[in-house]
Amino acid sequence: MTDRTLPKTYDFRSTEQRLYAWWEANGYFRPSNDPNRPDFDPARRPFVISIPPPNITGELHLGHAMFVAVEDLMIRYHRMKGYPTLWVPGTDHAGIATQLQVEKALAKEGLTREQIGREEFLQRTWAWKEKYGGIITSQIRRLGASCDWSRERFTLDPGLSRAVREAFVRLYEKGLIYRGLRLINWSPGLKTAVSDLEVEYSEEPGTLYYFKYMLADPQPDDPLPYLPVATTRPETILGDTAVAVHPQDERYQRYIGREVVVPILGRRIPVIADEAVQRDFGGGALKVTPGHDPTDFQIGERHGLPIISVLDEAARINENGGPYAGLDRYEARRRLWEDMRAAGLTLREEPYTITVPRSQRGGEAIEPMISTQWFVRIEPLAQAALAAVRDGRIRIVPERFTKVYYNWLENIQDWCISRQLWWGHRIPVWYCSDCGQMTVSREDPSECAHCHSSRIEQDPDVLDTWFSSGLWPFSTLGWPDDTPDYRYFYPTSVMETGYDILFFWVARMIMLGLEFTGQVPFHTVYLHGLIRDEHGRKMSKTAGNVIDPLEIMDELGADALRFTLLVGSTPGNDMNLSVKRVEANRNFANKVWNAGRFVISAINNLTPPANPLSNPAPWTLADSWIWAGLQNLVRDVERLFQNYQYGEAGRQIYEFFWGDFADWYVEIAKLQLAEGGERAYLTAETLARTLDICLRLLHPFTPFVTEELWGHLRRALLASPLAHLAQDWPEALIIAPFPQPRPSEGWEEAKMADFALFQEIVRQIRNLRTEKNVKPGRRIPATLVSSRAALLQQLRPALAALAGLDPRQLNILEHLEGKPQGHVALVVGEVEIFLPLAGLVDSSEERLRLEKDLAEIEAQIERLEALLAGPFAEKAPPPVVQKERDKLSAYRQSAEKIRAQLQAL
Ligand SMILES: [Zn+2]
Repeated sequence: MTDRTLPKTYDFRSTEQRLYAWWEANGYFRPSNDPNRPDFDPARRPFVISIPPPNITGELHLGHAMFVAVEDLMIRYHRMKGYPTLWVPGTDHAGIATQLQVEKALAKEGLTREQIGREEFLQRTWAWKEKYGGIITSQIRRLGASCDWSRERFTLDPGLSRAVREAFVRLYEKGLIYRGLRLINWSPGLKTAVSDLEVEYSEEPGTLYYFKYMLADPQPDDPLPYLPVATTRPETILGDTAVAVHPQDERYQRYIGREVVVPILGRRIPVIADEAVQRDFGGGALKVTPGHDPTDFQIGERHGLPIISVLDEAARINENGGPYAGLDRYEARRRLWEDMRAAGLTLREEPYTITVPRSQRGGEAIEPMISTQWFVRIEPLAQAALAAVRDGRIRIVPERFTKVYYNWLENIQDWCISRQLWWGHRIPVWYCSDCGQMTVSREDPSECAHCHSSRIEQDPDVLDTWFSSGLWPFSTLGWPDDTPDYRYFYPTSVMETGYDILFFWVARMIMLGLEFTGQVPFHTVYLHGLIRDEHGRKMSKTAGNVIDPLEIMDELGADALRFTLLVGSTPGNDMNLSVKRVEANRNFANKVWNAGRFVISAINNLTPPANPLSNPAPWTLADSWIWAGLQNLVRDVERLFQNYQYGEAGRQIYEFFWGDFADWYVEIAKLQLAEGGERAYLTAETLARTLDICLRLLHPFTPFVTEELWGHLRRALLASPLAHLAQDWPEALIIAPFPQPRPSEGWEEAKMADFALFQEIVRQIRNLRTEKNVKPGRRIPATLVSSRAALLQQLRPALAALAGLDPRQLNILEHLEGKPQGHVALVVGEVEIFLPLAGLVDSSEERLRLEKDLAEIEAQIERLEALLAGPFAEKAPPPVVQKERDKLSAYRQSAEKIRAQLQAL
């Protein structure tokens, strides 16, 4: 017997890794219908997700844990529904982040990347990737992710690199990629351009500096010999190429067309009129620095102003800065201002809140800089991406993010795709030093496409990481080749990710997917929220409130973490996470295990009934109730899953399992099993079937404990008189069919109502026992009076066991003449309960209690009477109205009985 008994407690530590390895070794993570195999059936529709590829520099954080939990749930659910499922895993090369890691390692050796050169640097970066790049995927495995690892991809794989080349060249040939001098966001710390999305704006205290732009040719009748101008960045004065005033500003009409002198440098620049000038800012005249400010850049374009860049790539003043050349930008600001003050050119300084663009990664202040970069002409791509959501080809869940998506795409700017890094997809453009032309090519060329010179050199820059991850849903399946995987698995089904990268990533996948494949890359975008600490604060290292998912899994198991993330979240909303909740869900895993142990031991101890079973098999009320409740649950879960309400589905399964099954049915089943014979057999069958369905429903949430328990259940059944139940089960829960909702058979509701009455009687007696401090083990006599006496008779043993009643002194009557003296009376619906707790009863207290109960019931009666007198009775469906009428009549009966009892007191 011992080998058939389950361990007392569930040991996730010894279970999780073993099961994961077993699933993977058996090929369950691979699609059940594979286009590369001879038995492939193209008619079966697959369910496909591509993983949001984590950075190879990453360490598992809760954001990863969240997407893994949600996507694994979706994948497991569809796999159990019989879909051929494919979850494509992979990682992103993470240009900036990875390069920084390797540069850090170099710095420890006293080296820079420039010193060792590009080739050596790339070799070291690949070596770094080989060593550390697998950490994040091994951590994702620990969560139970059922990805098809045989299809794992990396954005710098040869195949994906070819996809990037193809994409670049096609866009270039179509005129959708161009090279141009543009103002871009420059990160002086990283020494590269960064995209608009990688810049965060922070409000910080700063200074507004007022100074004099002296007129080059002051006239005697000028009110002032200068124009007053204000700036928050005085060092940019060195790059000014105009001063602009508003064309309708009367103060400055006379200066338009004249010239002013750049302080210290002495350059003459024009005074121009432009509508972009805000008349109420500073003195109303604006210095124009097209090389270092986005608004000024546009003014410069309108007026054909020269562009002067005064910063080098480290944000030091360059050769255009005269005496300040070589100084850091902030040092130059200080020195220039001192010199201007000495020259009498300053007016005043005042404190001013400035908006500082900061690098999302490095944190340093970004400089708008003029630079030659590669851009994607985004407008036509954005139009197509807008249309795909507008016409419903793509659905965004939750729906409110649709508006955010439209708004962003309607106002989108051209996308700067070149990065001054070494780690990444190098731009496939070669410049000819003979004819000066560009060769843009899918294959590395050996000569210039225009003059056939061999003196060509490849562009040193690499592409923005998001350019390759924008191709992810199809490049991972083999595109640009028309592979069997691409043909069958593309378009994918759902893109699931955090709402914070809707623009970074999701919008770009949609744009590039439509452009290159002519199809939407997925039909649904599911966005999950961010995870905050238990008080709703953002988790951060500085606040010290970061929860490490790896530590949580070590202590409480992967299932507990997954269940907490899934049940605590609703689509698109942030969730607060506390370790206490993970602990509570670890307890749930234990509860599942303990209930499972009970069921399995019941199966193991079962002897076949001596006589043939009655036909139809007689179910007890409890059997009918748990089965009907289970069918309701299956229907609800299916409906909730269809609506992406995974959290609510998980909550309902939890409630059913813990509340209905473990706390009520298992307790009653113990009594039924003790009866032996047919009753025990049918009870064990109901226990086994209920546990089986619950484990199937729970599997997508908590795969490990359910798989382990289900395996034990299956083996126990096959070795028992109930072997027929498990005859056609597969060898693993991960591939077992998900429970199918069945239509209601019509009998369920009455049984549910009867059992609810029983539960309410038990609850009320339990409450009263607690109130009166009756010792838990003490069996008390009771008299129950009700027209449902026949039903209550059937429930006798259960009532006695669950409410702590003495079965020999339990009277169940249809009528009772007179009220027993010295009893506490309870009323549940039309059932009256008398408990002889004479010694414990205080009649004035008893009166208070009954009056309180009566008041509550009368309030309910009033509410229902009002409801049924109103439009509800006309408009609501008749069964719903009838339900309320029944409730009302039950309340009226209760009130009647309580009044009688009060009178008896
Ligand atoms: Zn050439």
